[in-house]
Amino acid sequence: MSTPDPAPAPRAEDFAGGRPIAFRNATVITVDSGGVLDNADVLVVGEKIEAVGHHLDVPGDTLEIDATGGILTPGFVDTHRHMWQTALRGYGGDWALTQYFVFYYLQWGQVFRPEDVYAGNLLSALESVDTGVTTTLDWSHGLRNPDYGEAALQAFREIPGRFVLGYGDYLGAPWEWSNSQEFRAFVTKNFNAPNDMLGLQLAFDVPGSAEFPEAGAFQAARDLGLRVTTHAGVWGATTDTGIVQMYDAGFMDEKVTYVHSSTLNEQSYQKIAATGGTVSVATESEQSAGQGYPSSWAIRHYGIPASLSMDTSVWWSADFFSAMRATLSADRSRDHLEAHARNETIVANRLRAEDVVRMATMGGAKALGMEDVIGSITPGKKADLLLIKNDESPAMTPILNPYAHVVYQAGTADVHTVVVNGKVVKYDGKRIGLPLAPIADKVAASVEYVRSQLGEERWFADMHPEIQPDEEIENPYKYTSGDAHVTAASED
Ligand SMILES: [Zn+2]
Repeated sequence: MSTPDPAPAPRAEDFAGGRPIAFRNATVITVDSGGVLDNADVLVVGEKIEAVGHHLDVPGDTLEIDATGGILTPGFVDTHRHMWQTALRGYGGDWALTQYFVFYYLQWGQVFRPEDVYAGNLLSALESVDTGVTTTLDWSHGLRNPDYGEAALQAFREIPGRFVLGYGDYLGAPWEWSNSQEFRAFVTKNFNAPNDMLGLQLAFDVPGSAEFPEAGAFQAARDLGLRVTTHAGVWGATTDTGIVQMYDAGFMDEKVTYVHSSTLNEQSYQKIAATGGTVSVATESEQSAGQGYPSSWAIRHYGIPASLSMDTSVWWSADFFSAMRATLSADRSRDHLEAHARNETIVANRLRAEDVVRMATMGGAKALGMEDVIGSITPGKKADLLLIKNDESPAMTPILNPYAHVVYQAGTADVHTVVVNGKVVKYDGKRIGLPLAPIADKVAASVEYVRSQLGEERWFADMHPEIQPDEEIENPYKYTSGDAHVTAASED
């Protein structure tokens, strides 16, 4: 007797037919009560996860993906990304928050056209799909009228990901645009039926001006049944005053996501916790721009649920492995520093790799109100899946601690297969039918236009902000050639 030959590996084109898919022999991080399953299978039928277990019986026409040596996780969920800014990828890599505000809010906000939003969103959406971020909240604050909103949505129709449009207009007044007829018509036209592939939220900030005019925008969100996402606790921009206003007016609830929340006081964190809100932690951003210390360290003391986000690729990556890695390291770094200040030693790190994997998946689902739809590998949920597998990578062997492996060992180059809503969009490390070139052309045209509007001098000057040189510290030690010792000058 001989064992039957294993089924041949599917080819990319086989996935077009909508046949069931089975991942075989994976290390499955379910992010639900099942925990981690070794050598397990996951069956996808239609849009949904049909079964999770060992040696699953599958329908006869199932396409089987050999996941041996790989880790299967839920797709990542980014709860705050200014996707439109991706067209200027890396331009502001040396900025602090001040340059960002001056560039976009004060000087050049008027320059961007709907096609620039479209180009940025296309590139960002493609990157999401490519890197395993199956759901992205587009914090789209450059929508100066609904034509811009249509441009943002057009990109989402062309890329097979799950998106939530966080509609915003940073050059306008939220209490005005959210109540305008043209905005209401945009909502009616595009969001007239529940759709878990494309959602809508209102995106605006509360800087704490005395009259609290944003109350009108919160009321609009209530009227429309929409969630709100707001940059809170941003040093020098949004403070505890805004939280007090929101709380006193009764607008803090479980439908609000507080982005960053890095510089809030104890009362503000307690109000967020008490009202069921969530915080979107954007560690790469906070560590570099100066909103405050990445808040996972603070909010876990209050039991506030966290999700992760990459903020904007005008500065940083959109790499969700980096989001998890940076958050875990920043949290631990702060714990160590606080302990050392008390002359104590941390003997066991409190935040675990499992915690940030959870933030990157279920945490994001919860922040979007989609915890019953996505965020875990649970039968009945929509199939948003990520197979991390790279048989040629030394970093992918051995896999001993799956959570820690995902966070500290794996990377975007190891994204083997991505499934969105039951559809395979990337397989064996290659996207299926989603070429970069046409999108790159649109982005290049957008860059050329924006650059021409700025002029060459400003284009380069704004990319490289001037800094005052550090004051050098005088060194009391001297090194004399031929002398093995380095002695303090005062000891001469
Ligand atoms: Zn932001």
